[in-house]
Amino acid sequence: MKARIGIIGGTGVYDPEMFELEGTVRPHTPYGPASDEIQVGKLKGVPVAFLPRHGRGHVLPPHMINYRANVYAMKQLGVERIISPCAVGSLQEEFKPGEIVLVDQFVDFTKSRRYTFFDGPKTVHIGAADPFCPEMNSLFAKEAEKAKVPFHNGGTYVCIEGPRFSTRAESRMYRAFADVIGMTLAPECALAREMEMCYTSLAMITDYDVWADHPVDTATILRTMAENMDRIRTLLGKVVPKIPEERKKCSCGSVLADAGA
Ligand SMILES: [Zn+2]
Repeated sequence: MKARIGIIGGTGVYDPEMFELEGTVRPHTPYGPASDEIQVGKLKGVPVAFLPRHGRGHVLPPHMINYRANVYAMKQLGVERIISPCAVGSLQEEFKPGEIVLVDQFVDFTKSRRYTFFDGPKTVHIGAADPFCPEMNSLFAKEAEKAKVPFHNGGTYVCIEGPRFSTRAESRMYRAFADVIGMTLAPECALAREMEMCYTSLAMITDYDVWADHPVDTATILRTMAENMDRIRTLLGKVVPKIPEERKKCSCGSVLADAGA
């Protein structure tokens, strides 16, 4: 089974009404097992692979996810572009709950993750100045605009180790250089880049981080998440059929050659 597009996200992203399931695979990777089985099928006629990042039933906390196995498993299926919906907190007033951020930069504050495929003897230093696919981000921006989905075209994501949330001091520090905060982008994005796959993050803002001192109740967060998920499914349905088969407008596919690897 093969797929061109890979979606790594929460279970809510999987929409059986839009997705024609063809089968499931449980790929073996040199890095161990992926988070779960991968569902392969067609989304509006396009071969797509779905992987629940935290496993079904949300059994894997962010720091225990085998990011290398997940990304490698996608690569094995032939995936060239990864779309990665995730939930984030906001670090800035103007990044409001319910909005989607097409992330264009990240800062990695994780502590104990396996973050590269190149542990030697071969040493490879990939360029990561602009780690997200510009072609995919602009496709999502165009469709979000048309569908009137509230979004930010660009934003910096700080990835923390978790599973605990930030202290107030940490949150204030992150505010100095980032717009949203989450626990899953790193090293997933960089690993996809090492595998020369395009990577887009659809970061859904659920609430303000602790700096804001806006206490929110769980019911509000869950409602915002459900609305966000609807928007993500709408966007996927519109964008996926428009993703060109050939990658001509980005250099994601030549990252290793550019690194001299
Ligand atoms: Zn690309």
